[in-house]
Amino acid sequence: MNEPRQVRPKTEGWSQKLDADGKPLLAFAEPKRKQPPVHLADLTPEERAAKVKELGLPAFRAKQLGTHYFSHYTSDPAQMSDLPATGREEFVAAMLPPLLTEVKRLQTDKGDTIKFLWRLFDGALVESVLMRYPGRITLCISSQAGCGMNCPFCATGQAGLTRNMSSAEIVDQIVRANEAIAKGQLGGIHKHEDGTNERVNNIVFMGMGEPLANYNRVMTALKTIVAPQPEGLGMSARNITVSTVGLVPAIKKLADEQIPVTFALSLHAPDDELRDELIPVNSRWKVDEALDAAREYFEKTGRRVSIEYALIKDMNDHGWRADLLGEKLNARGKGWVHVNPIPLNPTPGSIWTASIPEVTREFVRRLEAQGIPTTLRDTRGKEIDGACGQLAAAD
Ligand code: SAH
Repeated sequence: MNEPRQVRPKTEGWSQKLDADGKPLLAFAEPKRKQPPVHLADLTPEERAAKVKELGLPAFRAKQLGTHYFSHYTSDPAQMSDLPATGREEFVAAMLPPLLTEVKRLQTDKGDTIKFLWRLFDGALVESVLMRYPGRITLCISSQAGCGMNCPFCATGQAGLTRNMSSAEIVDQIVRANEAIAKGQLGGIHKHEDGTNERVNNIVFMGMGEPLANYNRVMTALKTIVAPQPEGLGMSARNITVSTVGLVPAIKKLADEQIPVTFALSLHAPDDELRDELIPVNSRWKVDEALDAAREYFEKTGRRVSIEYALIKDMNDHGWRADLLGEKLNARGKGWVHVNPIPLNPTPGSIWTASIPEVTREFVRRLEAQGIPTTLRDTRGKEIDGACGQLAAAD
């Protein structure tokens, strides 16, 4: 039998950008940039109360603002008749400054997927993708403008890092998506059986950016997302997925935070030889270290973790790699992990492509044969360039 074909980023003409020491170029720290104005959603409840007092109003006004923003998705003073009319505009402008300006919105034919392109205060562009599924509404959000992790198959990774997003910029993506849903823009107005309005109930940090490279701001955002209304959005941590290329020290820190979010590791190769090329951060933390950290996350939180695996034709989709992945996961125990393969979404100008269906099925079959729960992920939003890895914020 012929040797299976092995395509590599290098053999396909890809060359890894290197830093001054000849190591793969990675941007962990952002370039110095002016930060957006401070917003209610950047602050803890105590800090909000203090700021409101500083502005000359009693602390309880912070809660009223919270209700407007987190429950009614508005930052418009005209809608806030429970606030004193005198000085209302200035007060609201100081507490809820506009953060995201809608530049463009793309929608699928069926209207069940919307991609938003947002402009931040300094002109940086980010995207979020809103998807209606039977029984749930998922929003894929960005945590950075651009990304410093430089993965060759990802459009955002190729664009480099512009800057970290602030906590409020992260949260505002959800508020603005909820506003669109409330206006019936995601395929009409539907009510839950109990008569309540629909809103985003599932968040994935799978838009632009590496969330664990913007650790503190992402943590503050998470706290606000799970805080009960009117202090936050009152969402359940288990319905939030934080996805990472594998920043091991940050994974360990996340496991200790007492916010049991769902954790996803973008593995994409079970062997260091290939992963070194596919995920440049593998030069810092190897496959086994990343898997150990994922296992530790499960032990500390009791939350089953996800392994993301973009299937790339003849690159990482070989049967032996499925077997090796299964072995490495089983070596760390049973029932702690599931695998989400997804056929690659080729990015514009990409030199490689998605695995063929037959190979994809075989990859899944081999994992399942080892007892690993495996769910093929869909590529929703592809036709509006809103699928995983396609977010490049090209205006
Ligand atoms: N930086 C984080 C989160 C953003 S990317 C991370 O890497 O996990 C979200 C997921 O989309 C990751 O699993 C990423 O590897 C995957 N992805 C990136 N480009 C892709 C592409 N072109 N096709 C399919 N998945 C892709």
